[in-house]
Amino acid sequence: MPLSANNPDRISWLHVGKNSDFPIQNLPFGVFLTRDDIITIGTRIGDTAIDLGALHQLGYFKDIPLTEDIFLQDTLNDFIADGRKTWRAVRNRIAEIFDANNDSLKNNTKHKEAILFRLDEIEMQLPVQIGDYTDFHSSLESATNAATILKGTDNTLLPNWLHIPIGYHGRSSSVIPSGIPVHRPQGQTLPEGETTPVFGPSKLIDFELEMAFITTDANDLGEPIPIADAEEYIFGLVMLNDWSARDIQKWEYAPLGPFLAKNFASSISPWIVTLDALEPFRIESPKPLKKQFDYLKYEGKKSYDINLEISIQPQGAKENIVSKSNFKYMYWNMSQQLAHHTINGCPVNSGDMMGSGTISGPTEDSYGSMLELSWNGTKPLKLKDGSERSFINDNDTVIMRGHCEKDGTRIGFGEVSTKLLPVYTKK
Ligand code: MN
Repeated sequence: MPLSANNPDRISWLHVGKNSDFPIQNLPFGVFLTRDDIITIGTRIGDTAIDLGALHQLGYFKDIPLTEDIFLQDTLNDFIADGRKTWRAVRNRIAEIFDANNDSLKNNTKHKEAILFRLDEIEMQLPVQIGDYTDFHSSLESATNAATILKGTDNTLLPNWLHIPIGYHGRSSSVIPSGIPVHRPQGQTLPEGETTPVFGPSKLIDFELEMAFITTDANDLGEPIPIADAEEYIFGLVMLNDWSARDIQKWEYAPLGPFLAKNFASSISPWIVTLDALEPFRIESPKPLKKQFDYLKYEGKKSYDINLEISIQPQGAKENIVSKSNFKYMYWNMSQQLAHHTINGCPVNSGDMMGSGTISGPTEDSYGSMLELSWNGTKPLKLKDGSERSFINDNDTVIMRGHCEKDGTRIGFGEVSTKLLPVYTKK
């Protein structure tokens, strides 16, 4: 099926601002609560949210095989499970409906009232019920920085890193959408030079600049996904801020790996941008530095050129952009991650979320965590209000944004914005 929704020359009859992340070529999918307190699946053009449930009820998806209630749900899991052919047919149809040359909905005031919402009339929800959340560690620059800082070795990767897309199983219960604040966690830490741990608020709260992909039902127990097929099972991507408590992490992570330092919150942007929409922005992955096993070998361009930025906003003060990175720096791409995840027969389901790992670029201003940006606190960042940050302070808001741009078309993710609150106290 052709990707007619990606036609770069198409203009919508809905207004789209010049630097909008959401032109008619994007058409992401999300879930929102409407002004009438109804939850629905929707998409977005410019600053207009579009109720796909209402569009479907009013007959605009006639002749696309969809169940009646497919968009009248509080998650995208069932729609995602319908597979790529359906995603494409629906995106192509939405593009036709909102094409400037199509009058059918444009001239129907009654229908428009039921279908269109301003952003301030809706509340974005988590787009999927995430069954399993896996977090990879796939940026060579970030892995090298982390090994250098935490293990004191000089630019030495762990011996497995260039052979395996390293990952761990995270926790889905604390994945939250943009806008939901997070409390500073408490936990056990081992102060520098001590041999006995202390309990209290984490002193080293950090973000991780990541992207995550959302999968569809992919394989049965025991059945690996061949790398050449992997993208068939990727619905789309979101921005991910994988909150981390570095002091808790350091004390707890041996010998089994990440635990409470990583599972108190993981924030995602609410619109899933489809892999189809990102098609024009494909780019080569970095060249392998070591021979890779056949199940990890791929052909063609499997990475995407997505500009990323991180900003810190202290309470009542201006935003400060502290880093600019790019998804293309990922050493292990999504196809390799999915092939590796299933090589042992582990099943992947509709709505699973796979984080990339911190995405750092090669330069000091492109690192994806405070651990790296402040080099473990030895080089604090200066903010516009005169204050300094080595890690994140209470009441700071961390904002991550991402967008692609090529030949005049800009496709973006919006943002994931999260405020860090002080330690939780019972009211
Ligand atoms: Mn992470």
